[in-house]
Amino acid sequence: MNTHHPDQLLLLSQAAGRLDAGASLVLATHIEMCPGCRAQMRELEALGGVLLDQIEPVELAAGAFSRTLERIDAAASFAPRPPARVKATRPDLPAGLQWPHSLDGCSISPWHRIGPDMRWSRVDLPQQRDARVFLLRMGAGRMLAAHTHSGREVTQVLYGAFEDGRAAWHAGDFDEADETIHHRPQVTADGECICLVALQGPLRFDGLLARALGAWMGI
Ligand SMILES: [Zn+2]
Repeated sequence: MNTHHPDQLLLLSQAAGRLDAGASLVLATHIEMCPGCRAQMRELEALGGVLLDQIEPVELAAGAFSRTLERIDAAASFAPRPPARVKATRPDLPAGLQWPHSLDGCSISPWHRIGPDMRWSRVDLPQQRDARVFLLRMGAGRMLAAHTHSGREVTQVLYGAFEDGRAAWHAGDFDEADETIHHRPQVTADGECICLVALQGPLRFDGLLARALGAWMGI
């Protein structure tokens, strides 16, 4: 059972399709991995249906209904989807770990080495090419350079665990941080950790070297 979940406001924004594509992808990945949040999303959808029922009927422009359905489909990205027709080559994962279906349709770069036992992969979203979404894969005990944020940072742990002084996050857990959080995430000693991360704005690293590396990575 996971212990860290998105708050209700974030789930509501996801249900309403109001999140940027990167955050929405990370949310969808959490919801895919978390039965509790899936149940909450179903309740929010039902609530949305009740609210729609109570709205006074008005005459709609031609095609409005089909456009609405398309938007609902787009917002319902947490629902299980058929596999993408063309599955591009993907970087390797630890034995037993499957790619979340939420990442179907994204192109995922090979692992790039960014330090000893630290790798990074860029996730390209077809609907928003400039989204800052990436995977981080770090070995046991490895630490990310200290940084703060210039906007929302959402993280879903796909494998292993990390901690940063606030708490520890394990596979399936979700984290949200912003410019008020200054942290230095460290992978726990038990094994490597893989996280999916979406950023609203660039990270602000403390050190010059980390800043240069972050700029090169486009994060
Ligand atoms: Zn959850």
